[in-house]
Amino acid sequence: MKLYEYMGFELIEKIRKKEIKIEEIINSCFNRINEVESKLHSFVKLNRENALKQAKLFDSFLGKKKKLGRLSGLPLANKDLICIKDFPTTCCSKILESYIPPYNATVINKLIDQENAVHVGNTNMDEFAMGGTTENSCYGPTHNPWDLERVPGGSSGGSASAIASGQAIFALGSDTGGSIRCPASYCGVVGLKPTYGRVSRYGLIAFANSLDQIGPITKCVYDCALLLEVISGKDNYDSTSVNVQVDNYTEEIKKSIQEKVIGIPKEFFSEGIDNVVKKEVMKSIEKLEELGARTTEVTIPHLEYAIATYYLICMSEASSNLARYDGLRYGKTSQNQEGDIYDVFSRTRSDGFGREVKRRIILGTYALSAGYYDMYYIKALKVRALMKEDFQKAFDQCDILASPTMPSTAFKIGEKIDDPLKMYMDDILTCPINLAGLPAISIPCGFNNENLPIGIQFIGNYFEEKVILNIAYKLEQELNIFRKMATIK
Ligand code: GLN
Repeated sequence: MKLYEYMGFELIEKIRKKEIKIEEIINSCFNRINEVESKLHSFVKLNRENALKQAKLFDSFLGKKKKLGRLSGLPLANKDLICIKDFPTTCCSKILESYIPPYNATVINKLIDQENAVHVGNTNMDEFAMGGTTENSCYGPTHNPWDLERVPGGSSGGSASAIASGQAIFALGSDTGGSIRCPASYCGVVGLKPTYGRVSRYGLIAFANSLDQIGPITKCVYDCALLLEVISGKDNYDSTSVNVQVDNYTEEIKKSIQEKVIGIPKEFFSEGIDNVVKKEVMKSIEKLEELGARTTEVTIPHLEYAIATYYLICMSEASSNLARYDGLRYGKTSQNQEGDIYDVFSRTRSDGFGREVKRRIILGTYALSAGYYDMYYIKALKVRALMKEDFQKAFDQCDILASPTMPSTAFKIGEKIDDPLKMYMDDILTCPINLAGLPAISIPCGFNNENLPIGIQFIGNYFEEKVILNIAYKLEQELNIFRKMATIK
């Protein structure tokens, strides 16, 4: 077995026992990158030299006065919208092509400086995290390791594909309406979107502030729990981060799930959801019943308005957030400086943004404009409040909700690119969770007859990450498919 094939927690043990060196793991991942990256395009920029230097440094910590952190030098892939000091961070947008952050995001300080992960590179994504396929990147698409003709999901598609192919052991993603869980589902890996406020957003380049959260993408639930433990907590640099105790997730996952009540929201299993996906998800729920959990049907009546509400809110927030990219305050200025300042702004933005980003800025600006504001934006906020209520009523009857993560398995690259509405519909089971601010995880629960992974989603109440991790861990142990890796042809 090659080192890149191991789980993170297994490698940590090997390092602690001095069976292997961190340098060997980093080399194993870079060898894997040499083998498969040209087929997958998971990364937009590698940090090879620095990674090897860091590995040597961290190797020297072991057994010395300076203690090695909990992540023990394991390779970390970072989504290209989380700032790392002096390393280009572009959001996969032409407009930020030459942006080099002067500071670290809080999560990066925690993962690298405090707990000693090694950054191997930044991963591909939909431009400014707008999309669900990683096709909207100015660097071109990422491919799904299970079938190179298919999308890896998005927007954190590069991170999920890097983990599924063994090019890194840990990855970060961000999730505004499903961007961690969707690619985790399509690539057969684990992805968790924390409660809004659980993880600091300081240093995360914003798409829609009231919905964005950073979260882990890993090969297994234990690794996910470990990463979440490290990145969670109140941060004085992010006033929306919340001072709620961070649980010991890596211990909590092992608890019994006897008598836990799983709510089945009936709308999440409706007509538009692929039958094979539904069948596999239901089989997993039955497995959990065999382990002692109980189930009950619940209802989220406002689900039918989720897509409209989510897109109104995220586009409105995006239009305001992205106003700063004018070539003067931020971003690459247009070469052509003719005319007045507005001409230059307009050319800069026309050249710098891709089609989907422009579409969202235009629609968001429209929704926020005088005369339409109450009809669209305010209305969307009201529906958002109703959705939150739906979930709270559901949680009166159960500890956790279970559903498919995505309505289908991964589809072909190019299949939906010209049909944004079809693309938006795919977020139906993930975006309501962001609207409510709840935590949710996606883990692989089976494969369809084309050997494409299927994801099951567990949704928890506020700050109950420990409950969703616990159920996910028990199911993972029972199904025992998490070691299966894609053969990249
Ligand atoms: N697919 C969704 C969108 O396009 C989700 C994006 C995200 O979570 N960043 O907005």
